[in-house]
Amino acid sequence: MGVRIDLHTHSEVSDGTDSPGELVRAAAAAGLDVVALTDHDTTRGWAEAAAAAEEVGIGFVPGLEISTRHRGRGVHLLAYWVDPADPSLAASLSRILDGRSSRVPAILALLRGLGIELDVADVRLGSRGAAALGRPHVADALVRAGVVTSRGEAFARFLNPGRPAYVNRYAAPLEVMVRQVSEAGGVSVLAHPWGRHGRSGLGEAELAALRDLGLIGLEVDHQDHDPRARADLTAVARSLGLVATGSSDYHGTGKVAHDLGCNTTAPEEYARLRDAASAVVRGPAPDHPRQRGPNLR
Ligand code: AMP
Ligand code: FE
Ligand code: FE
Ligand code: ZN
Repeated sequence: MGVRIDLHTHSEVSDGTDSPGELVRAAAAAGLDVVALTDHDTTRGWAEAAAAAEEVGIGFVPGLEISTRHRGRGVHLLAYWVDPADPSLAASLSRILDGRSSRVPAILALLRGLGIELDVADVRLGSRGAAALGRPHVADALVRAGVVTSRGEAFARFLNPGRPAYVNRYAAPLEVMVRQVSEAGGVSVLAHPWGRHGRSGLGEAELAALRDLGLIGLEVDHQDHDPRARADLTAVARSLGLVATGSSDYHGTGKVAHDLGCNTTAPEEYARLRDAASAVVRGPAPDHPRQRGPNLR
């Protein structure tokens, strides 16, 4: 088998269940040669993951999955090799993380209205190293309280939009984040663009406009895309000159049917992504030094 590359995974630093080190060791055990850590809106797991990758001898790509908004809908943007110290990017991420944590009490108040008593400490209990608490951690608390039997059931009954304990939160404008990722020296890839909301809002014309703003790739092979969507999205990526990636969106035991390496990125596409990252011209400060550790590539 050729080189196996998985560019989308979550550790317990966001809503996965493995520590970053455990995740990288599991990736090596699963036969992956390269793995990216892409926790939601945080880079906090990078150092531990990079050290573990060094130890087990696989490649590590530092990434994150940014919560953005586009035409009133949530869109996830994968970003790789950004400088986490970039001031604009760091400010956006902390605003997103604040929005995530501050919504938990509101969710708990709605649950209380339904006769379900949980407090923030109950939610925090199962979220070892999380940079911010989110719906998945509330879901886990509902499982521990015996209200539901899985995260999936918690979302379906209470936490999804339209369900009685749903609370919206801040997400940054997609166009702004595409630009900030390039300005922070990184490359951006739209996560599961035709996933939950289908194709609407992110058709070829919108994708072309995002490419013109600096978007580099589309995540094509993802569990939320059926074979038809994958084929059509591959064709769109080709016609727009975008990189086509494939990934598991692994969350440990937090999400079923997302095992490490269940989808992978072709080595040629990965090479294009890396080339694009080395070609990024940082802005807006032209003399800002690039701060990339050699083990982070
Ligand atoms: P939040 O960012 O707090 O709004 O929570 C959204 C996260 O919850 C997503 O990133 C998913 O990983 C996770 N999620 C959404 N729906 C489900 C589900 N049905 N089962 C498990 N996890 C889910
Ligand atoms: Fe998630
Ligand atoms: Fe996502
Ligand atoms: Zn994800």
